[in-house]
Amino acid sequence: MAEKTVCSKCGSGDVHLVEQTSVEVSIAITWATTAGIAYRVCTSCGCVELYVKDKSLLPRIAEKYPKVS
Ligand SMILES: [Zn+2]
Repeated sequence: MAEKTVCSKCGSGDVHLVEQTSVEVSIAITWATTAGIAYRVCTSCGCVELYVKDKSLLPRIAEKYPKVS
């Protein structure tokens, strides 16, 4: 699936990637492995979305965490 480059709220292309934040946000997988999170900020409407940076960790997140029912 292609990376999304437009804002899901307003459709603007002014979406910026923020990978380094002062607040450490990550998803624990094992004691040694965490999935880092990147922010995508729409500078048109202010919408912020979070994405897992390393897509190869997604199956492990799916294994560990329950699916939303
Ligand atoms: Zn937007």
